Amino acid sequence: MSELDRVLELISGETEPEFIAEKLNTSVCHATNLCLKLVEKGKLRLKFKVICPGCREVCAEFENIIDIPDEVECRCGYKFMPMRENIKMVFVKV
Ligand SMILES: [Zn+2]
Repeated sequence: MSELDRVLELISGETEPEFIAEKLNTSVCHATNLCLKLVEKGKLRLKFKVICPGCREVCAEFENIIDIPDEVECRCGYKFMPMRENIKMVFVKV
């Protein structure tokens, strides 16, 4: 079984690259690259979740990183500029 097939098997619901890395005993960077290859092949979809620094909840979700606005207002009332550390990538089976 190829590494990509193993990744695909591990994905259920919304899966973070950290989970794949742990299961494959590899780096998060390598796991992310494997997932991105599967996105290219049309097997997975990538979603970006914006995490509010105020309440730690997901306050918005985007399909494309370019769609993330410069400023986000969370339901808790916190307004912020989404930075790298506020954005979480998740992968979903197509
Ligand atoms: Zn919030």
